[in-house]
Amino acid sequence: MTLVDVMNLFDTDDKCRELLVRLRWPNGVECLRCKGPVVELATERQLFYCKECDYQFSVTAATIFNDSHLPLQKWFLATLLLCEARKGMSANQIKRTLGVSYKTAWYLCHRIRAAMAQSERPMLDGVVEMDETYIGGRKRGMGRGPHGKGKQIVIGIRQRGGDVRFFRAEDAKSGTLAKFIADNISKDVECIVTDDFKSYPAAVADNDFSDHHFTINHSWKEYVNGPIHTNTVENAFSLLKRGVIGTWHKISAKHLPAYLAEMEFRFNRRKSSTLFLDTLRHMVTAPALTFEKLTA
Ligand SMILES: [Zn+2]
Repeated sequence: MTLVDVMNLFDTDDKCRELLVRLRWPNGVECLRCKGPVVELATERQLFYCKECDYQFSVTAATIFNDSHLPLQKWFLATLLLCEARKGMSANQIKRTLGVSYKTAWYLCHRIRAAMAQSERPMLDGVVEMDETYIGGRKRGMGRGPHGKGKQIVIGIRQRGGDVRFFRAEDAKSGTLAKFIADNISKDVECIVTDDFKSYPAAVADNDFSDHHFTINHSWKEYVNGPIHTNTVENAFSLLKRGVIGTWHKISAKHLPAYLAEMEFRFNRRKSSTLFLDTLRHMVTAPALTFEKLTA
């Protein structure tokens, strides 16, 4: 799907809605309240009506699109732009490209991101690499080490040849890392590769993975020791950092998980030909995100 395709195929709200209906209800439209059968009303804007519970709704009701006055084509264009930008796209860029206000662009991006955050996260197995990194808060005199002020800890876990997971962590203590391992790494994992950061042995032991744990000794400048390396998770981190530094510049702790979800979603689907449709499907099935909630 290209920008030209979206402009041609989805040039009216009706055409956009038609696609959203198919993505939201692949087995036919059903009532949002009672799941019963509905009829389509003969209104200018497509509405469905359930006789059973006397309820009327549109395809965008109670979704990420809820209450938006923006033409659906602009939503579709913004979605394609976010899908295609490997390092992400700033709200300012969306504002200029779509000709909307900054506030509209900002809210739009956050809602698309919130939909991306709803994706399934199956457990990782095979060879899994885990690493932590520190982003943001790099100001003159503030230091660049792990304890630099304003820095945020991001945990990355990646199945070699498979998906990555990004998380914001409160700290990098072994108890915290142990929980990320428990929640994301399958009990059948072949091995877990980390660097020699002091928190890993206990975190891995907590999950009974010690026998499958391999360590690359970064502090001895030993970066690649045959298959024992963390290069694939580091590659994902480097794209994330280029997004943070080059596109978003500064991300608050509050919104960091949303940006991480966006990067993770896109990264894991970077070779997928259905990335755009997949994103729209998440948008029309994810719950609404109000401006008040986003800015609270
Ligand atoms: Zn109903």
